[in-house]
Amino acid sequence: METVLDHKELYRLPWTLPDNAISWLEPTAMCNLACDGCYRDNIKDSHKTFEEIKHELDVFQRLRKSDCISIAGGDPLLYPQIVELVAEIKSRGIKPIINTNGKTLTKEFLHELKLAGVYGFTFHVDSKQGRPGEWKDKNELELNELRLQYAQMLADEGGIACSFNSTVYEDTLQYIPGMIEWAHKHIDIVHTMVFIAFRYVVPEMPFDWYAGGQKVDWQSIMYHSETKRRIDIKSTDMVKIVREKFPEFSPAAYLNGTEQPDSFKWLLTNRIGNSKKVFGYFGPKFLELVMSFHHFTQGTYLSYASPKTTQLGRSTLFFLWPFDKGLRKSLGKYFKYLLANPFRIFKKVHMQSILFIQPVDVDEMGNQNMCDGCPDITVHEDKLVWSCRLEEPKQFGTFLRSIPKI
Ligand code: SF4
Repeated sequence: METVLDHKELYRLPWTLPDNAISWLEPTAMCNLACDGCYRDNIKDSHKTFEEIKHELDVFQRLRKSDCISIAGGDPLLYPQIVELVAEIKSRGIKPIINTNGKTLTKEFLHELKLAGVYGFTFHVDSKQGRPGEWKDKNELELNELRLQYAQMLADEGGIACSFNSTVYEDTLQYIPGMIEWAHKHIDIVHTMVFIAFRYVVPEMPFDWYAGGQKVDWQSIMYHSETKRRIDIKSTDMVKIVREKFPEFSPAAYLNGTEQPDSFKWLLTNRIGNSKKVFGYFGPKFLELVMSFHHFTQGTYLSYASPKTTQLGRSTLFFLWPFDKGLRKSLGKYFKYLLANPFRIFKKVHMQSILFIQPVDVDEMGNQNMCDGCPDITVHEDKLVWSCRLEEPKQFGTFLRSIPKI
């Protein structure tokens, strides 16, 4: 078998169940789009009360340290008290991040959210969201124009972290290098790109599904497809396709699977450059330094960095190169770039993250390989549960087991 990456050479992100960079809050299950790969039942007027939300925040704070809370859903911008919610999270000393499709975001709304303390946005934009109007039937590269509108809107407001995520399907895998190239051109205002491999329950899975001792019909599981779909895209498949265009592309950190230590459930790459040139990629030691320092000084592991920090690429190169091989290599390239024209020293150097996520994998024995130290964990009935599979406890009272068919 070809080995794309050796997990032992990367930094294992130190995130765990009680001490994590991120937690996941869903104030509503209502959405104004119907994405193909969505794993949430879209329920009209399903907003939780503000008291319920505050209680969920209490549960998080009792059970888990988090640097940020991802406010998701549904689309959280449809939640009537979203501004108050952002302020509430901020008042608890946690960074509020909004995960949205962006449809209802206006400049005025953004300004209100900024005043309430929003720290960052992750915009879900991809070609299988059924976006109406001018974005209908656009492919991933054509949608870069929409991504740029959102990035520019945040940049104009200022001081807000900007991320994009998209679900990756068999036929959209090919667009990842182009999207990464686009993100490079806008490295000053696009801070993170996230690619999430599509997962669903499909007819060819050779399992029976059980809730406790009760067999359940696979077609009753919310995230199922009646037709054959590819559900085994891995983070390493995404690395391979990116390396065909950018051979130096080097991930530095990962989260392993609960069943497979050498699976890359979260695979993080950080690069440094300006809109003209990528100088290089951070190595594992840099990520280790950042996580340890942040935890030592702030008590939590870092999730999102502010735009003020991500534009400190030059200082990072000059001061932190002794600690990381990737930085040393990048500094060498930066010096060559300056030699050609020393005035380039005045051009800002930025840092950008690229993250691949590979959700649940089921092996032939029916073992479900989840993200070990899941960052996107949410609260359900006062317990911490995987947000990607929340519909199971909601619908069946427990997570489902997959048993090979006899
Ligand atoms: S286990 Fe599920 S919810 Fe948690 S990080 Fe992985 S994909 Fe996301």
